[in-house]
Amino acid sequence: MINVYLASGREKSLLRRHPWIFSQAVKKVEGEIVSGGDCEIFDNKGQWLARGAYSPTSTIRARVWTFDRDEKIDVSFFEKRIKTAKEQRRTLIAEKELSAYRLIAAESDLLPGVIADVYNDYIVLELLSAGIEYHKEDFFTALKNIFPDCSIYERSDVAVRKKEGLKERRGVIHGDEPPETIIMTENNGVKMLVDLKNGHKTGYYLDQRDNRAITAKYSNGAKVLNCFCYTGGFALYALKGNAREVYNVDVSQAALDIAKQNVEINALDVNKTHFVKADVFAYLREKVQSGEKFDLIILDPPKFAENKSQLAGACRGYKDINRLAMSLLSPGGTLMTFSCSGLMTPDLFQKIVADAALDAGRTGQIVQYLQQAADHPVGLAYPEGFYLKGLVVKMVD
Ligand code: SAH
Repeated sequence: MINVYLASGREKSLLRRHPWIFSQAVKKVEGEIVSGGDCEIFDNKGQWLARGAYSPTSTIRARVWTFDRDEKIDVSFFEKRIKTAKEQRRTLIAEKELSAYRLIAAESDLLPGVIADVYNDYIVLELLSAGIEYHKEDFFTALKNIFPDCSIYERSDVAVRKKEGLKERRGVIHGDEPPETIIMTENNGVKMLVDLKNGHKTGYYLDQRDNRAITAKYSNGAKVLNCFCYTGGFALYALKGNAREVYNVDVSQAALDIAKQNVEINALDVNKTHFVKADVFAYLREKVQSGEKFDLIILDPPKFAENKSQLAGACRGYKDINRLAMSLLSPGGTLMTFSCSGLMTPDLFQKIVADAALDAGRTGQIVQYLQQAADHPVGLAYPEGFYLKGLVVKMVD
């Protein structure tokens, strides 16, 4: 057992139930250090605060598993957490007839470092912290007990694991290997092909589900430009909303190929679609040069800022694409613009979009504020869980 004593005053965030202990907050560590092993966390005076996982290489030196001293970290602990997460999503799944959803959203579901997404009969995992690495067998057992009919596939092939001293890994944990693609359904019957083994993240961006559905209402008769389209999620809803034409742009040919198939399997009109393999920045500049106009533009870029040192560059990137996109909008046109960088606060994002409008010489108004779907909740004690924000901006000049 590892005992962690915090420096004076550094217990405050824990008393507010925030689950992270940074290395500078630690005054003293006792016991044999095991990566990800359980640790008891005490304040400066020796008062017990929490039980967590110790991560010797990470600046987040420990992550809290529980604030209940009687709770041991074992199979039944994981079962309890998984059951709570499953129950929390029950109504949402029924209401939208989802066959795919985020089951566990890490710290916000009180399981630090654990991402679990369900796709039909497959559960795809990203294990991101030393603590869950240490307890993974207990966690897998708990998951199998609660989802006895599901196969489990691991996609821990992400660079952030390095910060926790862990290697990247992927493969079958339990049951069948996923086929090349599976078809899941979202938002009451929209079909989506997903490549669980080689797609981004766990295969798909489930967090944009609600925002994709909203696209339909801004698409009637519109010429749509869907930037960073990945497998075409937004395009399907634009077509369902009766778009005149949909241009889809992404750097990944594999994603574009699936996007086209997604249009086909939903029996939507593929003749209205265009799939362009290009860098969005270059594509937008080219269109500004040629003077082409669009009625609805969707900007859903990847995370531009992974850490604070990248934030200034990220701001320039967001401003650039938003300025270019607004230059391309027809009078009365609509921009749906997103940022999934947690470090980009909603206020800052709105300011960047406002600055971009000024530079583009456009007048706009926000008609809707958007955010991540409800299966990506934000723990009240963990505001970092809020990362996806979006604005629907109408041009009124
Ligand atoms: N809108 C998508 C998710 C976008 S994820 C959906 O609804 O599912 C971000 C996408 O941007 C990825 O598909 C990635 O391949 C693509 N991408 C990243 N940088 C790019 C760039 N500079 N130009 C074009 N596409 C890019």
